[in-house]
Amino acid sequence: MLMSDRMLLKVIVLGDSGVGKTSLMNRFNKQYKSTIGADFVTKELHIDEKLVTLQIWDTAGQERFHSLGVAFYRGADCCVLVYDVNIQKTFETLQTWHEEFLKQADPTNPERFPFVLLGNKVDTDGGSSRAVSEKTAREWCAMNGNIPYFETSAKENYNVDDAFLCVAKTAIASE
Ligand code: GDP
Ligand code: MG
Repeated sequence: MLMSDRMLLKVIVLGDSGVGKTSLMNRFNKQYKSTIGADFVTKELHIDEKLVTLQIWDTAGQERFHSLGVAFYRGADCCVLVYDVNIQKTFETLQTWHEEFLKQADPTNPERFPFVLLGNKVDTDGGSSRAVSEKTAREWCAMNGNIPYFETSAKENYNVDDAFLCVAKTAIASE
């Protein structure tokens, strides 16, 4: 995937329906294609003198049925898992998404495959609505191979750029 000073990385975004995957991606350039029932956006970053293009793939809602085709997973360089910090169930399902990714994408080195976790909708955290603590999320990350963790708000554009910069760096580091 490395072409001198340019790099293209395929990133896929997984998580339960409604957690904010599409809203997070709408923060970036829209370049939707719908050939396989999935869409992607691109985000360009400059890292260590390299022009890195993230091609970030979103589902068109098929995550509801856990029926994303193999083309969606094929060749992924990083997998971003998203849950909603206000809904416990979306956190519990992360384990399933993690396993499903490894099964479908079948990377050569599953223990070292780069994941990044996003706890989204932190803006609605008034103290009463929060269902999953940052500590709990970080413990899950530690147990699953030290996955980097970010708390984000697609609504308020909080931490989204930082999270995807980490996605790029994590993917590059595992090349
Ligand atoms: P997806 O099914 O994972 O793609 O989720 P969507 O992006 O379609 O978002 C589902 C709902 O959550 C929509 O009503 C969004 O406006 C809302 N939403 C998404 N991100 C956020 C966020 O960061 N904060 C809040 N308060 N709502 C959000
Ligand atoms: Mg969506």
